Amino acid sequence: MSVASWLSSAGLCPVCGSPQTGFLFSSTDRFFGGEQLYPYFRCKRCESLFLVPIEGEWSFADAYPSKYAAHSQLERLRWYHRWFSTYFFPVLPKHIRGRIVEIGSGTGLLVDWLSRRYPEVCGMEMDQHAVELASRAGRPVVRGDWESIAFDGEKVGVLIMNQVLEHLISRPDEVVQRAFQILNQGGFWVIRTPNASSWGSRVFGEYWHPLEVPRHTVIYSVSGLIELVARYGFAVRQLRFTGRAYDLTQSAHYMQEAGRNAWFMHLLGRCLPLSCGARFWASAINLFRRGDSFELLLQKNI
Ligand SMILES: [Zn+2]
Repeated sequence: MSVASWLSSAGLCPVCGSPQTGFLFSSTDRFFGGEQLYPYFRCKRCESLFLVPIEGEWSFADAYPSKYAAHSQLERLRWYHRWFSTYFFPVLPKHIRGRIVEIGSGTGLLVDWLSRRYPEVCGMEMDQHAVELASRAGRPVVRGDWESIAFDGEKVGVLIMNQVLEHLISRPDEVVQRAFQILNQGGFWVIRTPNASSWGSRVFGEYWHPLEVPRHTVIYSVSGLIELVARYGFAVRQLRFTGRAYDLTQSAHYMQEAGRNAWFMHLLGRCLPLSCGARFWASAINLFRRGDSFELLLQKNI
């Protein structure tokens, strides 16, 4: 697959196909450092953001250095993720026809949690080290990526992509089409992904932590993604906003690093008592449907 294959064709929004797109800003990889600037565009119609790399200036090796951890969910925080999954994971029917497959499952913490409730659960993960850790813990995680997933005609009951969709380098319409093909009639697709229409995206701009330059290729707006999945036959069963305090404080921290030390950002990013404030603020923003991430429970139309 060629690099920048997420772009439909020059100038068109990869999410809705509108020609009304414009350059928004260029940003660097603030997580791992580096000088290279990556230009992001915004669709004026659906508000989605997308990376338009300069010819020859985006590669997997640059985007995912060896220190990139696909398994950042530390084992010692397992209790936390178990609680987190229980609390935030959408409610699925008791009986699922077909397997539950998580793409980008890391070391398989969610796979483990789901395995206690459903008979057929497996994870797929690109990172070899994460797959090894999963295997050592006895979790069914296989090495593979979205582009090479094959089930030999067997259909999947639930497909899970938790903060994965925005990393894919396939074209958004191809991703949706493929998900539709893989799923059973009535099957579910769970997506959690950054929100291009969020308060944080508007306020922090190029410093917005969920941009995760240059690993996030397409950042969807809620309306853009819903319109796209509806076109391919998915119905929205649930929509939730799941922005976190960490996204706000980390974005504020990036602004401070760049010397833009506004008092409000200082409060969000630095003051310990205000980290509780950031949690409250993140919850309030979610209530107003402007959280930094959103979660969709989709069902393939019967
Ligand atoms: Zn668009």
